[in-house]
Amino acid sequence: MARCRKCHKHIMLQSNTHSFCRQCYEDILLDSSRTMRSIRRLEQLIDTTPQISEKIPHIITLVEYAKDLVPFEQDGITFEKCPPSELIETYSTLHDRLAAGQYSARLREAIGAAQQVLAPFEHLYHIKNVLDSLKKAIALCHEQGACRRIAVINHKGGVGKTTTAMNLSAALAVMNKRVLAIDFDPQANLSDGLGYDETKVASGIYELLKGEVDFTHVVRNISGTLDIIPANIFLSRAEKEFSKTHANMYLLKKITTQHHGYDFIIIDCPPSLGILTLNALAAVDEIIIPLLPEYYSLKGMRKLYDVIEFVRKKINTTVQVTGVVATRYDDRKNLHREVFQKIRDSLGESVFYSEIRESISLAEASSYGKSIFSYQPDSNGADDYRAFARLVLTGKRHDNGKEN
Ligand code: ATP
Ligand code: MG
Repeated sequence: MARCRKCHKHIMLQSNTHSFCRQCYEDILLDSSRTMRSIRRLEQLIDTTPQISEKIPHIITLVEYAKDLVPFEQDGITFEKCPPSELIETYSTLHDRLAAGQYSARLREAIGAAQQVLAPFEHLYHIKNVLDSLKKAIALCHEQGACRRIAVINHKGGVGKTTTAMNLSAALAVMNKRVLAIDFDPQANLSDGLGYDETKVASGIYELLKGEVDFTHVVRNISGTLDIIPANIFLSRAEKEFSKTHANMYLLKKITTQHHGYDFIIIDCPPSLGILTLNALAAVDEIIIPLLPEYYSLKGMRKLYDVIEFVRKKINTTVQVTGVVATRYDDRKNLHREVFQKIRDSLGESVFYSEIRESISLAEASSYGKSIFSYQPDSNGADDYRAFARLVLTGKRHDNGKEN
């Protein structure tokens, strides 16, 4: 009796040629056909836009590697052919986006899809090479200035989402990145924390979602390269007003796919898993999860991961958890160390981990409507969020240069 190579949960009663359980096998087929479509898109991108191969030299190698997917046929997996009508449709939308200079997000999407389908085969030597190459391509996309869209999510309240969204945005802006912070919580704490009295915000993200105002109308500059789209209490209507229809899942995505020259778009989510959070998950490439290092966080993480898995199947196939940050962390407490270690063990090394120490200045800064870098740039809180922002920038798993 063997276990499924992908989920490791289901046991196969008799060994089959490909060693996956039925459910995983079907998922892989679905992912494979998506990936093949992505590869075709990439090929078209190269044909139609020579400057892409100049800007991203790995891209041609990437396509060549991605074609290595075909050997999976040996394991009894066949790829579905993409209907020509679909190809033409994808191509024409893609062409329009290219013309608007927005190819980077598409490219990342294609690479992300390829990574996802290949991940279960990492133990095979040539697939490991392909995955390494895809990782490099993603890193290159970052270097080439693709906009990174990140949602700060946890359905548990008071775990430091807003504090993280606010100070990560501010830290990246201090590092000369152009950052758009979006307040996506009706409590409007991010707007408040960055100095906007929500009762005076006549139009914000809610009005933009509804198409009542345009982008330039709602974006405000905080300072330097940091902008915000604030929220007001009317955003609370969204949960009732926008039923969970397919179209309503993508309202925020329509906004984040227009990058407006930002290097980062960072979204502060509400403490729930309703339509707002689903919109945020549909609109981003990356997820950062802040949590308190306490035992019930472990339970909460499982629920959150179930929702993320649902989103990856139905709404946004390429969204990934890239970082987990323990807030109000005290290294002297056994409990904090143990819980964080358990979380690291369960999530593995594909995610980066960071700790933000308990720091009264962080709480004070928001109450004065300032980021920690304007309020107390030499505090522990500022050091920790600077180190965290460096991790986000480099994608490294650990930051040895943390200023403690
Ligand atoms: P909600 O779910 O209500 O949106 P949240 O997850 O956004 O909450 P925050 O508002 O960021 O959480 O933080 C909750 C409280 O904890 C705030 O008062 C904040 O100032 C405080 N806080 C956050 N991080 C720290 C820290 N590292 N040290 C001390 N206080 C902190
Ligand atoms: Mg909050």
